[in-house]
Amino acid sequence: MALAPTIVNGKKLVTLIPGDGVGIECTTAARKIIDAAGAKIEWDVQQAGESVFKQGFATGVPQATMDSIAKSRCVFKGPLGTPVGYGEKSANVTLRKLYETFANIRPVREFPGVTTPYSGRNLDLVIVRENVEDLYAGIEYMQSPGVAECLKLISRKGCEKIVRMAFEFARAEGRKKVHCATKANIMKFTEGLLKRTFEEISKEYPDIEASHIIVDNCAHQLVKKPEQFDVIVTTNMNGDILSDLTSALVGGLGFAPSANLGNDVAIFEAVHGSAPKYAGKNNINPTAVILSGVMLLRHLGEFEAATKIENSVLYTWEEGKARTRDVVGDTGAASTTAFADAVIANLGKKSEKWKARDYKAIKIPEISKAPDFVKAKTRKTLGVDIFLESSTSSNDLGKSLEAIAAETPFTLKVISNRGTKVYPATGAITDLVDASVCRFTSKIKDAAVSEKEILSLLERVGAKHPWVHIEKLQDFDGKITFTKSQGED
Ligand code: NAP
Repeated sequence: MALAPTIVNGKKLVTLIPGDGVGIECTTAARKIIDAAGAKIEWDVQQAGESVFKQGFATGVPQATMDSIAKSRCVFKGPLGTPVGYGEKSANVTLRKLYETFANIRPVREFPGVTTPYSGRNLDLVIVRENVEDLYAGIEYMQSPGVAECLKLISRKGCEKIVRMAFEFARAEGRKKVHCATKANIMKFTEGLLKRTFEEISKEYPDIEASHIIVDNCAHQLVKKPEQFDVIVTTNMNGDILSDLTSALVGGLGFAPSANLGNDVAIFEAVHGSAPKYAGKNNINPTAVILSGVMLLRHLGEFEAATKIENSVLYTWEEGKARTRDVVGDTGAASTTAFADAVIANLGKKSEKWKARDYKAIKIPEISKAPDFVKAKTRKTLGVDIFLESSTSSNDLGKSLEAIAAETPFTLKVISNRGTKVYPATGAITDLVDASVCRFTSKIKDAAVSEKEILSLLERVGAKHPWVHIEKLQDFDGKITFTKSQGED
């Protein structure tokens, strides 16, 4: 692990956040099992999520919880509910981002006694999901009353950390293959940065087979032939979607644990959410949360208790006397508490066939914290994209902007609407919205433009057309760093 555990009362300190919905039932079951297995854990119970939002804390994470995490640096949590499409940010994402837990490790493995279309194919794969960047940074704006924007920010530093984590994790678990799943064919700068970083860093791990796969094909292959995968490293949004898919291959979200790892803090939780429709019914499958607890124990160096619990969970599923509703349906299903009691009763028992995984500590990559992680030797600004709100026709807007540009060092190169060139007219049929991107470059081909010239242009444009956002058109080390709109030459 990155840092030694904090010891309180002779035990390892863990901040326990029971969470919302089914979280309370699942974490209560897991805690009981962990204590019964003899792990020496000092639980510090704290709150986050819906109950905290209701008290008026906009982040969903109160100071007392942050103080506890600062001390323990280790969190075991149930899922936290998030309002969808309005209001507060997700308290889960806030926790992951506040503590820079940059890697989300999401293993899935076939379970005995849990019949799926994939049974007998020995599925055992892991999604390593980047956890703090991408669309999940949640940087969103309304460009006009009818057009929304979300910024997808991906850094070289973030890519290097997650790629190294994937290879280190593969080595620690004796895994042989790492696939990098991206949409680099379309998003060449953002998703492409992960692909390029992967191709570069993979050379340092010659013992592990490395290949790139386009993420939509990865989803297809995961359904068709999932046993070909071992470790898949991917960006935040892709990883979120793929890991829900992979959980379904082995029986569903009730079976998918996860660890959010960083250099300072680690957070262990199931992949699933608060499943509100099952809250308080004592019928949810706690396996994912229990196995997240197994990952927590290994992180804390409690290997004996971890293996004991993993063996007991496998034995309990193989034995088949206590199986939850998600596997057997309503009739004859074991309750959450009955399943937990069966796991406790089976502590010390082992399946003949299904073994707990041999585990070695993961070397968490230490990457420079320098903000300017990548420096360009040369740079120049070639122009500016001005995003503006306008409901006039592209032709009228184009003529108006050309007249404005005539008095400046700029020329209007192109206007695009939702990424498609609309001025000068192309003859294509494009459905317009009232947010356009107007690209201005120097009148002199490939010449640099100054800050002062850009600000003066912005002032002139803004006097006639309200602008909402700008992006400089930059050249770093002789390379163009912006894309063209569809149809732009
Ligand atoms: P969800 O809570 O994961 O539940 C989706 C479905 O997955 C459930 O309806 C159920 O399927 C199945 N499921 C989930 N956990 C299960 C378990 N332990 N055992 C058996 N089946 C299980 O997803 P959601 O309904 O989209 O999200 C609910 C809330 O949770 C939202 O506020 C969301 O933001 C939040 N969330 C939190 C986290 C987190 O804390 N890390 C993660 C994801 C979502 P069936 O209906 O087929 O029975």
